[in-house]
Amino acid sequence: MRTKIIAGNWKMNKTCAEAVELVKELKSKVAGANCEVVICPPAVTLCCVAPEIAGTNIKLGAQNVHFEPSGAFTGEISVEMLRSIGVEYAIIGHSERRQYFGETDETVNKRTVAALAGGLIPIVCVGEHLAEREAGVTEKVVVEQTKLAFAGISAADAEKVVIAYEPVWAIGTGKVATNEQANEVCAIIRGLISELYGADVAAKIRIQYGGSMNDANAADLLAMSDIDGGLIGGAALKVDSFAVIVGAAK
Ligand code: PEP
Repeated sequence: MRTKIIAGNWKMNKTCAEAVELVKELKSKVAGANCEVVICPPAVTLCCVAPEIAGTNIKLGAQNVHFEPSGAFTGEISVEMLRSIGVEYAIIGHSERRQYFGETDETVNKRTVAALAGGLIPIVCVGEHLAEREAGVTEKVVVEQTKLAFAGISAADAEKVVIAYEPVWAIGTGKVATNEQANEVCAIIRGLISELYGADVAAKIRIQYGGSMNDANAADLLAMSDIDGGLIGGAALKVDSFAVIVGAAK
């Protein structure tokens, strides 16, 4: 049995004061969760939020992490810096980073390798654009992205990774993939992991769906056989919606 994982990607939203306020409200509402609960607030708010969630079941994630340990990389944050303030997860290769910040499959792989080496759990995002879905190449795109993200990673490390299948056309658009579409691609990814690492790792690895998941559609998506959680954008900023999604993950 895989423990489901619900992660909130707050993107570039919330000041420290606002982040603390949101977490104060959220913690009692998700206290009885039957899944792992992760929030990924903006980097500058991580230190403000960390003491608020200490001793609760909410875990902290970053929205990105650099692959070098230190040095002249203006604007970047290392694995060690994140680990030193209690961050346990890092989103890697989100489509917005691929689209706006030059993230490539190669840098996704480097970040994933570095995160694992330093004890951070990567949440690796993959997913096709609308034109790719319409051209019938979803499987090819997602398989290629996943293969490259896992290059050089051992089976022991691979099973720790969380994969987020996020069709780009469903992110922030209100256009959610159908339960079957989402499950089909998650199953394809699991099949690939089985080919690369064997059935045992494939049975253990967690694959989330992300893309306009909300309080109304979460239960059905999360009931699908190969969907082990959600990466939530917009709805993660609404305490009640996020708490409903967490409650739907059993
Ligand atoms: C995301 O940013 O990863 C995401 C899934 O966003 P939204 O839920 O708003 O579509």
